[in-house]
Formats: sequence, C-alpha cells, structure tokens
Amino acid sequence: MKKVVSAFILVLTLACFSVVGVYAAVVEKPVIEAEMPDCYREIGNGSIVLYANATVPNGGTVRYQWYVADTENMAMIHAIFGAESDIYQVPEEIGVKWYCYAAWNVSGGAESDPVYSRLIRVEYFENTTAHIHSFCEWMVITEPTCTEIGIKVRECDCGVTERAEVPATGHNWDSGKITKKPTAQSDGEKVYTCLNCKAIKVKTVKFSGISEESDTTNNTAEPDNNSESTIEPTNIGSYEKTHFPWWLVAVIVVPVIGCIVIVVILLVIKKQKNVR
Ligand SMILES: [Zn+2]
Ligand SMILES: [Zn+2]
Repeated sequence: MKKVVSAFILVLTLACFSVVGVYAAVVEKPVIEAEMPDCYREIGNGSIVLYANATVPNGGTVRYQWYVADTENMAMIHAIFGAESDIYQVPEEIGVKWYCYAAWNVSGGAESDPVYSRLIRVEYFENTTAHIHSFCEWMVITEPTCTEIGIKVRECDCGVTERAEVPATGHNWDSGKITKKPTAQSDGEKVYTCLNCKAIKVKTVKFSGISEESDTTNNTAEPDNNSESTIEPTNIGSYEKTHFPWWLVAVIVVPVIGCIVIVVILLVIKKQKNVR
C-alpha cells in the first residue's frame, strides 16, 4: 500500500513539473538584439548610461532587471533595486563595476525564462593628466609706487589665483635745478624733484674749471663721481623728515623740569621743618 502511495506522489510531482515546464515553454524568451560595449569615462564628465535592447516575438512585453557585480562573474551579480527600465544610469564612482540585465517576455499573465545580457565593464577614472591653467589678464590690485612694489593677480577658471609683484616704477626726476653754483672754492648743488612722489635728490656739482654754466641742461659740471643723496618722502611730507622734532623735546623736557622743581621745593620745606 505504501509503495502505491509513493508511486502516486512521484507521478503527481512529475506531472506538475512537466505542466510548469510546458507552460514556461509556451512563452518564448526575449531576444537581445544588440549588446552594449564596455564603457570608460573620466569622472565628472557626465554619467554613463546603459541601454537594454531586447525584443519579444509574440506581442508580449519585455520586463527588465539590471544587475551589478564587483568582478567579471555572472555568479556574483545582484539585482539593483528599482533598476527595471530599459536604461540604467551608472552612479559616478571611481573604479570598475560589471553590469548586465535580464529580460523576460511577459505575455498573457505568464512570463518566459529570462535572457541575460553579457557583463558590461564600466569604469569611471580619475583625471590623471595635469590641468593646464588658462589665466585671464593680470589685474593690478596694489599699484606700485616709485619705491614700493605693487601686487597683481590673475585667475584661472578652475579657481586658482596667481599673484605676482609689479616692480616699483622708479622716480621720475624733473629736469635739473642748480640751487648752488659750483665755484673754485666750493662745490655746487643740483636738486631734482620726483614728479610723482615729490622725493628730492641732491647732487653735488664739482667745479670743473671749464665754465660756470648757469644753464641747468649743461652736464659738464657733473662728472660721474658726483655724490648724490635722495630724500624719500614720508607720508607727512618730503621735508618734515629732515626737521629736528623740537615738539618732542618740549614734551619730554617740560614735565622733567616740573618734577625737579617740585622735588626741590619739597626738600627745602623738609629742611626748614628739621631746622625748627
Ligand atoms: Zn586652472
Ligand atoms: Zn618718486
């Protein structure tokens, strides 16, 4: 009796399997028309989009599912949640991943066996070639003066800013003014003033013995060994720098004298008290 029951269950099981098999065989698998090539893109240059391309022969619809794997191995693929469209946008991540899709033919409430695409190698790589800056024009942000350097900057689209010095312009001396004529007994003096910053340059003019030219454009009275000194202007004025600061003396000396006078008076008073 037990043998009969076992045989019956076996037959029933086989029958079920064959029915399912026949049913599945009824719905034809989709056909993959074209496979995607491998994809390779520099990161930051837009996403890689994968396309599925399967057709069904008998008026059914295609259902897709995308898979990803870390290695080139179909046994390692796992389904990407929600990736059921015929396109898939690969997330931008540096490195290599393998993608494939499965397609089913859905027809009359039944579904075919899946067909799988090949594993598509997808790589996002980092930019390894050095970026060559493309700078705009220099922009002077601090103007140079006669004696101080200035600062200029220029910028690349990538955000890099380059700074450089602007050389000092140097004084722009006016034409010579002889303030003291040289004589056989004493040297003369020629004073130049900078047209930009009012700095003063004094040149000693030696008496050459050739002639005593009053003409300031004549250079015979200034050989190369003439000594010269330049007085740079301060922010107060070009002349004040050379003045002795008498006001400072007054500020220091007056209180000191005042203190001494008071101390002397106190000492005198104390002495008088001791005498009594
Ligand atoms: Zn740049
Ligand atoms: Zn100057």
